Amino acid sequence: MINEKINIRNLTDQEIINFLIEQGEKQFRKEQIIKWLWQKGVSSLNEMNNLTESLREKLNTSFYIDKIKIAEKHISKDTTTKVLFVTIDNLYFEGVLIPDRDRVTACISTQVGCPLKCSFCATGKIKYHRNLSSGEIFDQVFELNKLSEAQYKRKLSNIVVMGMGEPLLNYNNTIRAIDILTSASGLGISPQRITLSTAGIPEGITQLANDNININLSVSLHSAIDSKRDDLMPINKKHNLKSLSDAIKYYYQKTRKRITYEYLLLGEINDSYEDAVALTEFTKISACKINLIEYNPTENDIYKPSKKERVKQFEDYIKTKNLVVTIRKSKGQDINAACGQLANKKQ
Ligand code: SAH
Repeated sequence: MINEKINIRNLTDQEIINFLIEQGEKQFRKEQIIKWLWQKGVSSLNEMNNLTESLREKLNTSFYIDKIKIAEKHISKDTTTKVLFVTIDNLYFEGVLIPDRDRVTACISTQVGCPLKCSFCATGKIKYHRNLSSGEIFDQVFELNKLSEAQYKRKLSNIVVMGMGEPLLNYNNTIRAIDILTSASGLGISPQRITLSTAGIPEGITQLANDNININLSVSLHSAIDSKRDDLMPINKKHNLKSLSDAIKYYYQKTRKRITYEYLLLGEINDSYEDAVALTEFTKISACKINLIEYNPTENDIYKPSKKERVKQFEDYIKTKNLVVTIRKSKGQDINAACGQLANKKQ
C-alpha cells in the first residue's frame, strides 16, 4: 500500500479530533497539537514533546508539516530586509521586513509567482507555480516576526499581504492563514493591523464582505480608464472597472470600511489631467484614501517614473476633490525588495 502522508496543517480542528478518536487517543491532545503547530511553529512532529511517544509515531505515520525555510537574507542600506523562502517542494518565493520609526511591517506572499502578469511588475515575469498553503503563508509571518525581534528588537506591528501573487485568487488559504494569525490560539495579531492588496478580483472582494473579514482592503487601481487599465493589468479585460466598482460598492455598503487605492504613477502613461479626473470620479463610490506610488524600476524598462512636477499636479488635483492622498516612496530598492520588484532570481 502506498502511504500518502497528509499535510497536518490543512486539517480542521474537527479532523484532528476525528484522527485522535480513531487512534484511541484523548481529545485534549488536539489543543496540544494546535499549540505546537500555530503558536510554537514547529517544523517536525517529533518536536511535540508533551505528546506520548506512541502518539508522535502515529502522527508521523499519517502526516507531515509543510514548513518553509529561510534560504537567503538581504539587508538594504535603509535596513529593509528581503527574505528568500524555500518550500518543502523546493520552490522559492520572497517576503520583506520593513522597519519604520514606530513600526515593523512584514510584506508576505500568497503565491509562488503570479498568474496576473501586470505589465509593470517583476513578479509577473517569472513562472507562476502554485498557491501557497495556509501553513506557508502563516510561516512567513512567524519567521519574519522572529527576524524582527532579532534584528530590530521589536515584534512585527503590521502585516501587508502585498508580496508575490494575488491573494484573492488564493482566497481560502489566505483567509485561513489570517484567521490563525489573528486568533488567540495562533499569534493573536489584530486584524486592524493587516492589509490585503488585490489587483481587483470582484468575487473575492464580495466574499471578503460576506465573510466579515475585518482586515483593511487595498485595491491596485493604476488607471480608472478601461482601455489603459487593460494594457497595464490584463485582469481588467476579464473584470473591468464597472464590475470592480460594483464589488467595491457592495463591500463598502456591508463593511463601512474605507478603501485604499494604490495608484502607480508611470511617466506619460497614466499621470495626465484626464487620468486624475477619471481617478477621482472612480473613487467617489466609497470613503477612501489614495496612495500614489512611485514606480520602482524592474528589468523591463518600458516605463519610467512620473516627473516631479507631474506628481505634484496629480496630487494637487486630487486634493481639490477633498480626497485623502499620500505619496508612497518604496523602501529596499537597492536589493529589489520594493513593490513590484519581487522576482527571485532562483526560479
Ligand atoms: N496582487 C496584489 C498584491 C501584490 S502587488 C495586487 O496587485 O495588489 C503589491 C503592489 O505593488 C500593487 O499595488 C502593485 O501594483 C505594486 N507594484 C507592482 N509593480 C510595481 C513597480 N514596478 N513599482 C511600484 N509598485 C509596483
